[in-house]
Amino acid sequence: MTAYKSKMVERIHLPSREVRDENLEAAGYNVFNLPSKDVYIDLLTDSGTGTMSAEQWAAMMLGDEAYAGSSSFENLKDAVSDVMGMEYVVPTHQGRGAENVLYGTLLEEGDVVPNNTHFDTTRAHIANAGAEAVDCPVSGAMEMQSDEPFKGNFDIEKGWDVVEEHGEDAIPVVVLTITNNSTAGQPVSMANIRAVSEFAAEIDATFVMDACRFAENAYFIQQREEDYEHHSIADIAREELSYADALVMSGKKDALVNIGGFVACRDADLFEHTRQRAILYEGFSTYGGLAGRDIEAMAQGLREAVTQEYVESRVGQVQELAGLLDDANLPVYLPAGGHAVYLDAEGFFPHIPLEEFPGQALVCELYREGGVRGVELGSFAFPGTNRPELVRLALPRRTYNREHLEHIAETVAGVYERRDSVSGLEIVSEPPMKELRHFSAELRPV
Ligand SMILES: *Cc1c(COP(=O)(O)O)cnc(C)c1O
Repeated sequence: MTAYKSKMVERIHLPSREVRDENLEAAGYNVFNLPSKDVYIDLLTDSGTGTMSAEQWAAMMLGDEAYAGSSSFENLKDAVSDVMGMEYVVPTHQGRGAENVLYGTLLEEGDVVPNNTHFDTTRAHIANAGAEAVDCPVSGAMEMQSDEPFKGNFDIEKGWDVVEEHGEDAIPVVVLTITNNSTAGQPVSMANIRAVSEFAAEIDATFVMDACRFAENAYFIQQREEDYEHHSIADIAREELSYADALVMSGKKDALVNIGGFVACRDADLFEHTRQRAILYEGFSTYGGLAGRDIEAMAQGLREAVTQEYVESRVGQVQELAGLLDDANLPVYLPAGGHAVYLDAEGFFPHIPLEEFPGQALVCELYREGGVRGVELGSFAFPGTNRPELVRLALPRRTYNREHLEHIAETVAGVYERRDSVSGLEIVSEPPMKELRHFSAELRPV
């Protein structure tokens, strides 16, 4: 069932096949270089690309642009308290700003930080603070197809291995990312959240949640975990976060806005320290690098994110797309997560060796076939890491409808049909930092 109708529309356009071919060549076979006007359906990311509600647009008109003491900040504080149950809030320009502010406050050179799986910017900010980020995903997290309902969980035993290796004094922070973005957007169970909070308490670490997709995670708990089927999404969301000491949030995900983020916490002392660092990097602590109107939209978005209608249609759409692909017997990661469908590029192109980037070849062919833009998360984006060769199709929130989903599925099927004739790619030029290569490197067909 759909929970929305459109009030404002944006033209989209599918350029001719010839133009798509030319665009790919001009972009150096890197879809980050494509002009968005020539992308028909854009699944590059779900970050900041969603559609705001009429209530959010109305709230923007109430933005208080005062430098200090803005009433928009008070509204955000109330929303975070009501929806997430945390008293103190430090707004930031987006999620990585929140990571800089919090991890820069909590970490020192030589520290070690376990997480179910660190998101890229999290790992980078922990490294930037001189600390080491260690992943503790459950085994089977990256199994391409299984029935396991909570593949995003944190493996507590691996957490204890980290304690054994480094000693608890080296671990001031334990992080849990819900949903687990880097593990195909897989959910974390309430039982696991409790277990991680106990683990963090036992070693006297601050328990931080990366809460970017806390509402999507709550929906999976409601649908899949015993004893939660009769709980509201709002109640489950509050319970999830009740175990954490602090959280980092990208408003571009489950606060349903185009820009924004924040740190929230319970401890007055931690708040004071993060607030000071935020003044240095983000702006005064009642605006944090955002316009008052953006803060209003984020406060309203948080409240909408925990309604049943919203989250059911949101995650339902992702499951629907995965279902269309699975019904056509296409190689897809199952069960699908909360924000994206992942394709197994090696299942498309077993004849293309990893050195010739089968995932990136698939991304290019999806654009050539149907003007669909996805993103590679395999040998091209993460060289030398042994990750599975995945292509992510991330759905923006409240943006596309069933017709778009059908076009996406037809496009993927079209590439699969001519899979034997697709060749690999080689790099022509790349930036100095290997970690950032997929954003700007240029390639050509082998
Ligand atoms: C997007 C994201 C971030 C970073 O947020 P930005 O708003 O992109 O800076 C951090 N953690 C997770 C899990 C994310 O998905």
